[in-house]
Amino acid sequence: MKIAVLSGKGGTGKTLMAVNLSSVVPGSVYVDCDVEEPNGHLFFKPDITSSETVYVKIPEVQTDLCTGCRKCVEFCKFNALAYINQSLLVFDEICHSCGGCTLICPENALIEKNKSVGRIQIGTSDDVTVLTGIMNTGESSGMPIIKQLLSKDSLNEEFVFIDCPPGSSCIVMESVKLADYCILVAEPTMFGKHNLEMVHELVTLMEKPYSVILNKCVDGENPSEKYCINNNIRISGRFPFDNELGTINSNGMISARVQSTYQSMFASLLQEIGSVN
Ligand code: SF4
Ligand code: SF4
Repeated sequence: MKIAVLSGKGGTGKTLMAVNLSSVVPGSVYVDCDVEEPNGHLFFKPDITSSETVYVKIPEVQTDLCTGCRKCVEFCKFNALAYINQSLLVFDEICHSCGGCTLICPENALIEKNKSVGRIQIGTSDDVTVLTGIMNTGESSGMPIIKQLLSKDSLNEEFVFIDCPPGSSCIVMESVKLADYCILVAEPTMFGKHNLEMVHELVTLMEKPYSVILNKCVDGENPSEKYCINNNIRISGRFPFDNELGTINSNGMISARVQSTYQSMFASLLQEIGSVN
């Protein structure tokens, strides 16, 4: 079973949930698709067993063949090419590696070269396999890294927890694509409710089964809870605002590993999720 953990923004407790749920399942796999700011590894502190670079293809001009016809410039919808002062410029950072310009050039003046956009680290932490995608600083999209992460054989294990990027953009859709079930983590504020609406819309569009975990709950009104009730959304867990949990988390420790009460809490949550699948 592949479970994706999502939230409309960072800081809601998405990684806390994904890391702890993974920790209570012996032999599980944790996949950090939050490639711009992966931090699951800070908790797992895995022994790295392998590392690989993720490359994309970028066009390179062979100036002796280029006639300056500008067909490639007109073709590129991302404005990643410009013909200035009788030379073709390629802006690597905004190229989406579609390969179209290479195909369209009548002079075969464009060839493709590899460009590193990030890396993938695989390691182990106790009996959890930890896969981490790390995007190079300054890159525009983590999509190639996420695709490569999700193609790994480890994802065939029985329990896989996918820590998605925050938000509801295309990289989140890619991270959720293989999931059998989605957990949406929401905070008890109006802003939290707005973010919940975004990810709710996404999993509904993608026709994924899902439920919500309400995190950092305090006494008083909870707009996210109200949203769930009004929309018949199943709430699989309510986590109170918990100073102790926050302290353990901010010290880079996994609460389910250091305290049996948290171990039981996350194991019960998983059972609750499993009970409807
Ligand atoms: S299409 Fe080919 S020949 Fe024309 S400007 Fe681009 S690289 Fe040069
Ligand atoms: S590969 Fe695609 S995105 Fe990149 S420069 Fe060529 S046409 Fe533009």
